[in-house]
This record gives sequence, C-alpha cells and structure tokens, in this order.
Amino acid sequence: MLALLSNDDGIYAPGLEALVSQVSAIARVVVVAPEVEQSAVGHAISIYNPLRVTEIYKSNTLYGYAVRGTPADCVKLAVAEILDRPPDIVISGINLGKNVGDCILYSGTVSAATEGAILGIPSMAVSLATYSNPDFSYAARFAARMAELIGRRGLPHGTLLNVNVPALRPEQISGVCISRQGRFIFKDIFRKLHDPYGRDYFWLETEDIQQDANSDNDLSALKQGKISITPLKYDLTDHGLMKELKEWDITL
Ligand code: MN
Repeated sequence: MLALLSNDDGIYAPGLEALVSQVSAIARVVVVAPEVEQSAVGHAISIYNPLRVTEIYKSNTLYGYAVRGTPADCVKLAVAEILDRPPDIVISGINLGKNVGDCILYSGTVSAATEGAILGIPSMAVSLATYSNPDFSYAARFAARMAELIGRRGLPHGTLLNVNVPALRPEQISGVCISRQGRFIFKDIFRKLHDPYGRDYFWLETEDIQQDANSDNDLSALKQGKISITPLKYDLTDHGLMKELKEWDITL
C-alpha cells in the first residue's frame, strides 16, 4: 500500500511525525506537506503563486517534501508530480485540535483529505481534540488501523472519513462512534487592538453560543470520550431543495 501523508500544521508538526511512524509499519509512506502552518486555510489552492518544493531530511534520510502552498496544493501536486503512481490512501493529520461541526469547512486538515477524495483516492483526516500537551501516539495507532481497514474495504468515490480522537489515555477512551457532522452556532468576536504605529487591527476569536441539540454528532462523541468517525461528502448540493426550486417561476 502506498500512503500519501499530509497535514495543515506544516511538515515539521509532531502530529504528522507520529502518523508517519505508525503508518510506515503498514504502508510505503510519502510525506508531502506545507512548508509552514496552514491551519484554517480551508480548501484554498495556489494559482497566482509558484509551488516550490523542498526535500526535507531527518537523520540523513528523506522525510518528505515541503511545499510552499496549502494542504490541497500538497495533495494535488503529490499525485500529479511527486509520486510515481497514485497513492492507495491519503491521510491528513494528525491535527493539533479537533475538526468538528461547522469548523470542518475551514479546516486545512480536512481539505487535504477532501482533495484526495476529489481525485478518487480513499482519504481520511485525523485530528486530536486538544491544543495543549498533545500525545499523538494512540491517535496515530488508530489511524494506522483505520488505514488498513480502508485499504481492505475501500470508500465510495467522493466520500472521505473525518476522524477525531479525544485527548484521553487509551484506557479512558470508551469506543468508537459513527457520528454526523454537528451543527454548532458560533459567535464571531473580533477583538480590536492597536499596533505599534497607532493603527487598529482585529483578531478573531469565536465563542460557542449554541450546541447541537441531538447527541449523535461528532462533538458529542468526543465529549463522551469516544473516537468520532464521520463520513463526509464534498458534494454540497441540497438535493431536497432542487425539486422545490424547479417549481419557482424563475424568469426575468
Ligand atoms: Mn491545524
């Protein structure tokens, strides 16, 4: 199995390194990841900037390819130019911080996996639900196990798996929940600050104001100490509304 590994935290991220060490046991691994952190860039691609690629060595062996671009750029470029054949799987992560609910749309981690799905490759995004003192080892072992299963069972074209692992000790994790993308209402708070030159600038912080009422969602699974696995499709069409829209008298 050939596994393409990427992320949005950058090629030097410990979460990626943990993934490499575990997935290497079950697959030939090629790392193609952003040169610098690209969290929250979503599915952006570079069309007005060149994509420069640098080989990164660790202990005198090739660790991977750093791309001066976005996570989606990395997957596109890897498949088109860097790899000698299409990968059997794309794994993105392990992200520092969960990717659940509405945040999925902004996530560079998920977008690398989405790009894999667009290219017809079984793909998975993996995130660890913490921002402090991360221990990626269990999540990395779980990711390798999932990669084996995906390799055996495949995924439908256009669907990726979004995996979130709670930041708990392995014995505290109470199973796996196949969950739905949650709906959470956020309030955007723009903190107004001043730069050294006397000009105002804004820094976005968000606050949860409403949680999903149903408990079968990704965040609820994490709160119950479970690993959340959500199958995602990038086709955003509202198929239900298509029928109703056809009834509208849309003429000018
Ligand atoms: Mn990130």
